[in-house]
Amino acid sequence: MILKIVNIPNKILRMKSKRIGFIDDSIRKLANDMIATTLDWDHDSEFGAALAAIQVGEPLKLTVVRNDFDDPKNREFTTLVNPEIVKASAEKVSDVEGCLSVPGIYGRVKRPLKIKVKAQDQDGLPIRLTLEGFPARVLQHEIDHMNGVIFLDHIADSTQLFNIDKNGSLMPVSEPKKDNINHAKQ
Ligand SMILES: [Zn+2]
Repeated sequence: MILKIVNIPNKILRMKSKRIGFIDDSIRKLANDMIATTLDWDHDSEFGAALAAIQVGEPLKLTVVRNDFDDPKNREFTTLVNPEIVKASAEKVSDVEGCLSVPGIYGRVKRPLKIKVKAQDQDGLPIRLTLEGFPARVLQHEIDHMNGVIFLDHIADSTQLFNIDKNGSLMPVSEPKKDNINHAKQ
C-alpha cells in the first residue's frame, strides 16, 4: 500500500518517535508499505534512499533503508527497528542531502564520517552496523527524524541550500551556479 508522505511544515515531523516493543505483523506491514511508498516516490533524477515511519505519520522507531544507493534499479531495502547510534567518529564531513518530506530542497550538512549503529531486524533479531560515508549520513538523517529533527535544522547558512531543476542539477538558492551532486533523498 502506498502511504502519504508528510511534508514540512507539518508538526507531525517534530514528534519524537516511540521505541517499538513487540514487532508484530502490523510493524512488518508498515515497513513493507514504507518501502513501496519510497519506490513509488522515485522520479526523474531523484530517488528515495530511506524513509522513517514518522514521514508517513507513524511516530515509531522504524526506518527502511535502500541497500544500494548507487543503483536506483536495485529495489531492495533493509528494515531497521529501534536504531540507535552507539558510537560516532570525531571526524566530520560535509555533504549534500535531501529529504522526501522537504520537496525540491537540498542542503549541505556536516555530520560524523563513521558511526556504529545497533538495531533490530523485522524479526526482532539484533543488528550491528558499522557505516562510513553516505550510508552513515543516511542513518544519521533517519535517526534525526525519530527525534523530530529535519536536516534543515543543521543548516544555519543559506548558501548551503540548493534547489533542484528538472534536469537534476542543483542550483544554489543564493547564487546562480550549477553543482551536480548526489540526489538520493531520505
Ligand atoms: Zn528525511
